[in-house]
Order: sequence, then structure tokens, then C-alpha cells
Amino acid sequence: MRIFSGIQPTGRKHLGNYIGAITQYVAGQDRGEAIYCIVDLHAITVSYEPATLRESVYDTAATLLAAGLDPDRCIFFRQGDVVEHTELCWLLSSVTAFGELNRMTQFKEKSGSQRDLVSAGLFFYPVLQAADVLAYRAHEVPVGEDQRQHVELMRDVAGRFNARFGDTLVVPEVRVPEVGARIMDLQYPDRKMSTTSGSEQGTVYVLDEPAAIAKKFRSSVTDSGTEVVRTPDKPGISNLIEILAAVRDTRPAEIEREFDGSGYGGFKQAVAEAVVAYLTPVRERYRELRADEQGLERTLARGAGKARAIAAQTMVDVRRAMGVGPVR
Ligand code: ATP
Ligand code: MG
Repeated sequence: MRIFSGIQPTGRKHLGNYIGAITQYVAGQDRGEAIYCIVDLHAITVSYEPATLRESVYDTAATLLAAGLDPDRCIFFRQGDVVEHTELCWLLSSVTAFGELNRMTQFKEKSGSQRDLVSAGLFFYPVLQAADVLAYRAHEVPVGEDQRQHVELMRDVAGRFNARFGDTLVVPEVRVPEVGARIMDLQYPDRKMSTTSGSEQGTVYVLDEPAAIAKKFRSSVTDSGTEVVRTPDKPGISNLIEILAAVRDTRPAEIEREFDGSGYGGFKQAVAEAVVAYLTPVRERYRELRADEQGLERTLARGAGKARAIAAQTMVDVRRAMGVGPVR
């Protein structure tokens, strides 16, 4: 069983990424052949600073290693180091429907919030993402709920490729966590917590100091009423219930039972304390790992070598099936 997922090196990663994606990555190392990638080529589809991008790759790499990715038990690399991703992206564009791309929610949301250029790359993002996964013939893609639509698209692309050119690619399954698949912004609980478009006070970063985390939870949106329950008119409290359940690895109903009749103040404090305890060891390990940039480069380079060996073989098969290049 092969697992593949990618994460953007845009700014600082947050609690939503941690719960929705990173914990699944760590667990994946015990479940199959796990391949994880820092997707620098996706990060350039919105406005960015070249010098910051390289720094952000190190930040993200150190965060993932601090969370428990073990380069001896998974393949961990930087997308831009393996050119097969971009070549496969172009080849897959021939079996990707324009109309499908036009329906992608992420494009609609992100294109609306761009101040200057809406790049063609932002529109094409899901095709590159399909190439990321299909290059490794992965069976499973662990992601948060917001990426479900993109995995559906890559399933269609793989299926269409196989129907048109013969059985070559694996149609992957999405894997979304039961609890915490869509962590919401603490200030705007109708929006997902996000690296690039969230509110500063509503986004809990993995590397936030305990005092900052406590403050963000204390000032999180307070719904009407006093009951700690998940109901549609309490999006803020529902989100905190989900967060605490994920951090404690239990069910939301369990949290509701425990905090029955306790009021919002004590509940918010309990969530803050649990999240601080959850993230503190990661922040501490991060500091050590981040200090050694050469070590991070070596780790990523070693991962890229292993990744390329797999992706290059897929490209031989894809080119042959499509009639591209000489007979091999
Ligand atoms: P952006 O909002 O700029 O796209 P992001 O916060 O979504 O950034 P990504 O690197 O695009 O960060 O996502 C990495 C992984 O984290 C993906 O699998 C995504 O589904 C997951 N994820 C992102 N936000 C959340 C969230 N709020 N709750 C749960 N999972 C999330
Ligand atoms: Mg995203």
C-alpha cells in the first residue's frame, strides 16, 4: 500500500494542517510505503517572495520532522527537485477537462482574494496535484476535507487516462480524518483555518508560544447560549469541541459529555491547555531541526533521489502509452 500527500511551504503551518494532515502523515508511516512532499511548485501560484519561499521550505520541513516524520521510514522531499511532476502535469492536461477545473472551489476562493495577478498556475493547480500523486501510483491520499474535490478530480484524470491509453495509472482513494478534517478559523468559524487567507488571531500556528495560543482561544468567537454542544447555531463552540476531540484522540460526543454544564470560559481554557501540551514538544524539536539547514537539505536531497527512481519509471510507462518519444 502506497500513500502520498503534499503540503505547501507557504508561511507558517497551523493547527488545521497539523490535525487534518500532518498527524495522518505520521500514522501513514506505519500503514504503508509513505511518500510526502513539500510542494514549492504549488506555492508559486499565488504572489510570493523567492527568498522567503526557500526559507519556508526549511520551516515546513523542520515542522514535519518535528511532528514525527522519519526520513528512514518515509520518502520525504521537495517537489521542485523531481522534474517528473511537471512533465506528467503537462501530459495529464490532455485528459483533464477544462470544465472540471472551472468547477474547483479552491480556485474560485483563491482567485477572488488575489490582489494583482490571478495566475494560470492557480487554475492549473489541481493538474499538478494529480501528477504529484499519480507519478507514484499511490493508493491513498491523506488530506483535509478541503482537498477532497481535488482528489476526486485526480481520480477522474487517472480513470480517463487508463480508458484512453490503457491501464497505466492507479486510481487513488482519499483519506480524510474522522475528527478534525476541517478545523475552522477561531475568529471566523464559517471559514477554514488557512495558511494564506486566515485571520491572525483566529489561526493557531504550530510554532506559536503558549501565551499566544492561550490568548487566541480566550478571544475565540463566543456563540450565544452557554452549553458546550455541537449545533448549527454554535459554529465557534462546535469547532473547539472538534479541536479538543482531535487533540485528545477521542470523539466529540465524549467532549460534550465531559463539559456538560461547565460554561464557555472553563471549556475554552481546557482546550487552550490541551493544545499547548499537544504542540509544545513539536515546537521544541522544531528549534533544533530548523537550526541545521544543511542537514535539512541533505534529508530533502536523499528523499528526492528515492522519489525520482519511482516517478521516472512511471514516466517511461506514461510516455510509451501516449506515444510520446522514441519506442522504448
Ligand atoms: P491555503 O489555505 O493557503 O491553501 P492550507 O492551510 O490549506 O493553505 P496546505 O498546505 O494547502 O495549507 O494544506 C496542507 C494540508 O492541510 C492539506 O491536506 C489540507 O487539506 C489540510 N488542511 C488545510 N487546512 C485545514 C483545516 N483548516 N483543517 C483540516 N485540514 C486542513
Ligand atoms: Mg490548501
